[in-house]
Amino acid sequence: MKKKSLCIDFYEVEDLTELSGEDRELLEAAKEMTSNAYAPYSEFYVGSAILLENGKVVKGSNQENAAYPSGICAERVTIFSASAQYPDVVMKTIAVAARNPRQAMDYPISPCGSCRQVLLEFELKQKNPIKILLTGETGKVYIIEKAIDLTPISFSSDDLKRLLS
Ligand SMILES: [Zn+2]
Repeated sequence: MKKKSLCIDFYEVEDLTELSGEDRELLEAAKEMTSNAYAPYSEFYVGSAILLENGKVVKGSNQENAAYPSGICAERVTIFSASAQYPDVVMKTIAVAARNPRQAMDYPISPCGSCRQVLLEFELKQKNPIKILLTGETGKVYIIEKAIDLTPISFSSDDLKRLLS
């Protein structure tokens, strides 16, 4: 047996003036979108915004349901909306922000496993990295340069091709 290790680089930004204007605007859009969340059950409000290569910004928020599994995270609302409206346009950057009225969110929120899988799917489809910006209501920002970094040892369409061949 061989022990293997993974090392993932990401950036932690405390001074937000170090971010580009484009990234700051996208984070602001994600924070604003937390107000559009429909989250009566969790009261966990998540907003997301994606900058496309054509300059358009697609926004989304989490949408819950009394039948809990029928709800969907902000990231997937935004990614699917971007893909539905602009199927052939590269997604450059996604920003994700969260707000929890019961607890100050002064640290970056991180996508769930399903959203990581969906991010990876579209990164592989478009053959271009999707940069991920993560924040809370306040505090530092994490920058992950590509979706594969959040989903190492992942399942993808290549595995399906192997299964079918
Ligand atoms: Zn999710």
